[in-house]
Amino acid sequence: MAAPAARPRRTGIEVFLGGIALALLAVVCFEIGAGVAPTAFVYLAVILLVSLRGNFLSSAILSIIAVLCLALFVAAPLFDFPTYLPEDVVVISVFILTAVIVTRLVENLRRQTDDLRESEEHWKEVFEQNPNMYFMADAAGKILSVNSFGALQLGCGFDDLVGRPVLDVIYEADREFVQSNLSICLENLGQTRSWEARKVRKDGTLLWVRENAKAVRWAKDNPIFLLSCEDITERRRAEEKLQQSEAFLSEAQRLSHTGSFAWKVSNGEISWSDEMFRIFEYDPSVKPSLDLVLQRMHPDDRARLQHLVGGPGADITVGEEEYRLLMPDGRIKHIRTLRGTGAAEYARTFTLLGSVMDVTQRKDAEEALRQAQADLARVSRVTTMGELTANLAHEVNQPITAAVTNANACLRWLAADAPNLEEARAAARRIVDDGTRAAEIVSRTRQVFEKGVSQRQPVDIDEVIGETITLLNGEAARHAISVRQRLAAGFPEVMGDRIQLQQVVMNLIMNSIDALKEVEGARELLVKSERTDEDEVLVSVSDSGVGLPSQRPEQLFDTFFTTKPHGTGMGLSISRSIIEAHGGRLWAEPNKPRGAVFQFTLSAEAEALLA
Ligand code: ADP
Repeated sequence: MAAPAARPRRTGIEVFLGGIALALLAVVCFEIGAGVAPTAFVYLAVILLVSLRGNFLSSAILSIIAVLCLALFVAAPLFDFPTYLPEDVVVISVFILTAVIVTRLVENLRRQTDDLRESEEHWKEVFEQNPNMYFMADAAGKILSVNSFGALQLGCGFDDLVGRPVLDVIYEADREFVQSNLSICLENLGQTRSWEARKVRKDGTLLWVRENAKAVRWAKDNPIFLLSCEDITERRRAEEKLQQSEAFLSEAQRLSHTGSFAWKVSNGEISWSDEMFRIFEYDPSVKPSLDLVLQRMHPDDRARLQHLVGGPGADITVGEEEYRLLMPDGRIKHIRTLRGTGAAEYARTFTLLGSVMDVTQRKDAEEALRQAQADLARVSRVTTMGELTANLAHEVNQPITAAVTNANACLRWLAADAPNLEEARAAARRIVDDGTRAAEIVSRTRQVFEKGVSQRQPVDIDEVIGETITLLNGEAARHAISVRQRLAAGFPEVMGDRIQLQQVVMNLIMNSIDALKEVEGARELLVKSERTDEDEVLVSVSDSGVGLPSQRPEQLFDTFFTTKPHGTGMGLSISRSIIEAHGGRLWAEPNKPRGAVFQFTLSAEAEALLA
């Protein structure tokens, strides 16, 4: 189409050339004496030709010129308008009418053709530039046409693609599947099929596309394929990433035995992760519900959960609990649950979000460890048996010697001519006292080796220290160690296991004796007890022995850490676990000028912790 500025110029040229043609024809027709009708016919032909090429204005101007030419040079009398023959007037009138109609028709036709061309160009542009790949292929699958965008996406030129099989640009692994889809399209003409496949760019890289295809038959020709492909590489990548992270999450849940759930409390809808089904041992096809959870809940824990989810005033939105599950075969599982409300944007999807961790293995291991520790503690007590046996012999010897002496005295008082019954009775009473004392010493020693369950009772820690020092006095004396005590813990008594606390004091004193054996000069051991401002009992055992090894002081408390040739390395680690189980702390510091101080506190909360 001509640009608007060029139009008047073009009209001028058309009118000028058409005018010359009309003038020449007028001369020729005049010379040959052609009548009005033939001349008019020839003029009409010229005007028709001009209107085919030119526009309506130039045709209209030429029609007027033609009428003037006819009137002036062809119709008789020449050059005299008013006196024409009636038939000439009819011819001229028919000419004018025909010229106007023809010009108009041609103009309309041309406009329609222009519109059609314009719309075709427009659609071609859309087809070319649309961010979709379009392919046209023949029934054998050979590419007949491709839009520019399609060729560009594949990194090819138009000519690289036309004539090649469409399957050529499909990734090898997907070809069979695409081919079978194309065959189905051929069998079902006009029906659209969709699929997702990978195409290969010229540089070998892949792109995921969603193809919509159908086979159509135009006129009587063979069917052709119309394919439109949308690039979905980004979407597929995002999907793959999502699938991967879901797989990671699920695998992590499986490994950590932790399931997760989301719960919309208002309508009771619950969704579970795969691990939840495994923990509760339900088939993944069942619909998760609170009822299913309650069914598996241990009867002793069920009421607690029911109160939490339905009890008045219970806050379900956040919390942490442990429950037991009772499986249909009688197994007990331990679970630990955590709940929270999650981020605000999910509030419409669920009310709360939580995790359920299967801690059965950990619980079993803890129980086994507790048992092992208890056994170790006993073994550790037995290792001190050697020293205690010597001490026991020393301690018991004294009341027995006294008993023998008193028995002899008793016999003497009775053997006299006049038996002194009063003295004999007194001697016999002393024998009973000596026997009781010996029995007490034996009983105290035996208690240390007894295997028993932890017993919580009020303990006078000063008494425990006093007794332990008595037990170890003989051992201390053998190594010329002077043992002093400054006991001021007093009442109230702490709550705890007397035997365990005695074992701690004994371990600490035995360690000090060992450390003192190694040094020359003054060998001093001081055991103190006091109450602190925080209402705790603080017990310390200080010595002037070899001092702490140069390693980190904390290492002393590691199980099996020992610097002694026949040490077990268990004493301090067991002592620490006993003190911590009583809610206290046990630590070591260097003593001044030499030696070590071991101290422990016993918390006033011991009762609660042991409950
Ligand atoms: P064991 O006595 O069998 O070695 P413990 O756990 O009781 O095991 O002690 C660990 C180590 O701590 C000892 O081997 C010793 O090196 C150090 N230790 C403990 N008490 C003292 C102390 N009073 N003075 C110096 N070192 C000590």
